[in-house]
Amino acid sequence: MSYVVGLTGGIGSGKTTVANLFAELGVPLIDADIVARQVVEKSSPLLSKIAEHFGDEILTSQGELDRAKLRQIIFRQEQEKIWLNNLLHPAIRQEMLSQIQACSEPYLLFVVPLLIENNLTEFCDRVIVIDVEPAIQLERATKRDQSKVDTIKSIMASQVSRTERLRYADDVIENNLPLEQGLERIKTQVFALHQQYLDLAKDKES
Ligand code: ATP
Repeated sequence: MSYVVGLTGGIGSGKTTVANLFAELGVPLIDADIVARQVVEKSSPLLSKIAEHFGDEILTSQGELDRAKLRQIIFRQEQEKIWLNNLLHPAIRQEMLSQIQACSEPYLLFVVPLLIENNLTEFCDRVIVIDVEPAIQLERATKRDQSKVDTIKSIMASQVSRTERLRYADDVIENNLPLEQGLERIKTQVFALHQQYLDLAKDKES
């Protein structure tokens, strides 16, 4: 099985930015957000179960999941949130594992915002944390999502703390500087990590 490098960090920390640099080096990515969408794609068995439970009103006219409607329901009704999580979480884990097992490259990058919160470090041989100061994180995420500061603050509060996240890190990529100043250093670090992971992957194989 491929060597699995988990990549995590809080909202707006720079996971996508860094993951793209690994992808440019030819490293395959498995992105938890994409997997979470794949398991409920149009005509999937799980989407049928969701429609059976909530009624066809939960589907758009194109037969896709109406995420906004579902979010509203589970925001108001805790029981429905539990029902949905019980359905989706095992399926998402299973799909992640299948995609990891199907990979034939020496190593892959497993990009997961809630890697620690959802106990997914158990799938990883190594963990990279993208670390950024909370004030910078708040500013970048607010700007990107055009969200209210309070909304981003409450998402940050629902995630593990910076200190707790760093406890799980084998490698840390610091992303405090603006990209104009920091990008070259991050690229150099990513390149060095890439070489290191290729070596570690060889050790795992042998
Ligand atoms: P999320 O989990 O919330 O989707 P993320 O961790 O994937 O976020 P990115 O999308 O990579 O984070 O970055 C968040 C925003 O901050 C983006 O708009 C990105 O362009 C910007 N950004 C990332 N790193 C820097 C940086 N060093 N300087 C300035 N802007 C940055």
